[in-house]
Amino acid sequence: MASWIYKKAALSFEEMPDLPAALRARLAETHVVNPLVVAEHQRSSDDVDKLLVHGGDGDVFECVLLPFEDRVSCCLSSQVGCPMGCTFCATGLGGFDRNLSAGEIVAQYLLLQSLSSKRIGHVVFMGMGEPLLNLDQLVKAMALLHDEVGLSYRHMTVSTVGLVPQIEKLGEMRHHIHLALSLHSPFDEVRDRLMPVNHKWPVEVVVGAMRDYSRMTGRKVTFEYLLIDKVNDTPEQADALARLVKGLPSVVNLIPFNTVDTKQGFARPNRERVRAFRRRLESHGVNVTERVERGHDIAAACGQLAGRHKGRFAKRGAVSELPVVS
Ligand code: SAH
Ligand code: SF4
Repeated sequence: MASWIYKKAALSFEEMPDLPAALRARLAETHVVNPLVVAEHQRSSDDVDKLLVHGGDGDVFECVLLPFEDRVSCCLSSQVGCPMGCTFCATGLGGFDRNLSAGEIVAQYLLLQSLSSKRIGHVVFMGMGEPLLNLDQLVKAMALLHDEVGLSYRHMTVSTVGLVPQIEKLGEMRHHIHLALSLHSPFDEVRDRLMPVNHKWPVEVVVGAMRDYSRMTGRKVTFEYLLIDKVNDTPEQADALARLVKGLPSVVNLIPFNTVDTKQGFARPNRERVRAFRRRLESHGVNVTERVERGHDIAAACGQLAGRHKGRFAKRGAVSELPVVS
């Protein structure tokens, strides 16, 4: 049965013809194959599928299927909402509801796989939530994806706001998981304003943890860099960023801000400013990529859907109630 569930992404016992009909009927009375219910399914003009799902308790979260020419990837959520309170993020605005279980994380993958004729070989944890705040369930989910589905840890990307002790733990596991840090500024005074977590683990400390992670796993790391007009896209910040990552096997991934009104007056820089920032980094020898934007017409970017459905979220957590992470 495991192979029907994990390898063929069957969503019901009916889809497992080699099981006797009576057994299938009995199982269907007491068990579900996939615990998630699809509340909404959207498809963009460029073939991105986005699902808004819930686990039966009404707490909705999102997952996205991203077909590329050479591979199929998916973006999964790790929490319902997020307590980290980044000031540019719609998910952060909505507060925090709960952690997802390993089952609910893997179930997102399997639901998306059932929509795709090609195998989903890559997983990124860039949906709702901060994956390293839910490390136990995240690690369990990745182990299931590895052991049962057959995905390589190297093709799993965990994106984090920068929780240093959890980065160390992940490194000690030596699974060679691809780690991405949402850096967004090399200056503490700017990062403080964008990401409250920076008060606890400032730039030098968190980049030091990424350096250790890269050394421990022998893997390149990624620095995600959101570009917000005239906030963190200045030449001084490009120069400081280049100095910061010098000698570290890494890539800087530029993400032009997806406009979300978080009452901070943040705007997306124009193409010229993005290009100038990129060129400046490259002139210092930094490896730079730009996030390929997909699913724009269905708001498939991080936090966007959560913003649209905000009224459906119970707002419990708040920035001031940041969970204690030691
Ligand atoms: N909590 C994790 C992973 C989920 S967010 C993290 O913060 O890394 C995934 C990525 O989307 C992060 O790099 C985040 O900074 C970015 N993001 C959040 N809001 C965004 C917005 N409005 N526009 C563009 N990127 C955004
Ligand atoms: Fe949470 Fe990531 Fe959004 Fe920050 S950017 S609030 S960590 S989901």
